[in-house]
Amino acid sequence: MAPTPLAAKSPYELRVHLGRGVPETDVRTALATGDMGFLHSFTTGSTVDGPGVRVVAWTAGCMWRCLYCHNPDTWTLTNGIPVTLAQAAEELGRYRHGLKTMGGGFTLSGGEALMQDRFAVKLFAAAKAMGIHTALDTNGYLGSRLSDAELQTIDLVLLDLKGWDPERHRHLTGMDVAPTLEFARRLAALGRPIWVRFVLVPGLTDDPADVDAIARFAAGLGTVRRVDVLPFHQMGRFKWKELGLDYALDHVEPPSAEQVARTCAAFHAAGLEAY
Ligand code: SF4
Repeated sequence: MAPTPLAAKSPYELRVHLGRGVPETDVRTALATGDMGFLHSFTTGSTVDGPGVRVVAWTAGCMWRCLYCHNPDTWTLTNGIPVTLAQAAEELGRYRHGLKTMGGGFTLSGGEALMQDRFAVKLFAAAKAMGIHTALDTNGYLGSRLSDAELQTIDLVLLDLKGWDPERHRHLTGMDVAPTLEFARRLAALGRPIWVRFVLVPGLTDDPADVDAIARFAAGLGTVRRVDVLPFHQMGRFKWKELGLDYALDHVEPPSAEQVARTCAAFHAAGLEAY
């Protein structure tokens, strides 16, 4: 069988076991050095993962378990394709002229990209050396793994704020919200630009008090340039089924246009640009 290509049409391609043959010691070395990463795929032409047109590398590995996760095949590191840093940089380099022409850049997303923080740092450095704008899409939980100097190689952080109330956040993601908020404060203190991403799920993340609290927090940071309100959808449902996972949101409908507008309005009211 031909090897799975690194390029994908979209991250909604189900990809599993592609790094299964990599020995455990090599996985550990890869994580420690960043000389090899595990990637679900590269996609091109995104206009929703940062400014301009983006090439996105989707990493494998995530320790969160968001009920609405669209890509649960990225939870497992060794579901990803093992890719050397040189290969990943070469792939990115193929697009560098086009990205500059289109005012775009490179976004590292996942999964949770900071599960492979050394690989992320090295790939961002390679992108910057090619003059490419860099963005990191992260839940922020592992932000403390990056030094202040390393954060300077990331032009923009797309920070996923998934909830506010600690109990509800834990129910939604399986994890504490505090480290994410701490990372947001640190980015702000360093003057690093942030785009907040907020997934709107009816009945799960639409509590008005929580949305208001997130909006006030984001506005108070002072470096949030924009908020993307992302309406929940069911495009990832088939992956939960294929992977034999219990999917709790089977009967949840996407939010209405009015609900999205109301949520954007809450961010506007706090003084933020929201779309
Ligand atoms: S943080 Fe992202 S990849 Fe991880 S479970 Fe949540 S939505 Fe999925």
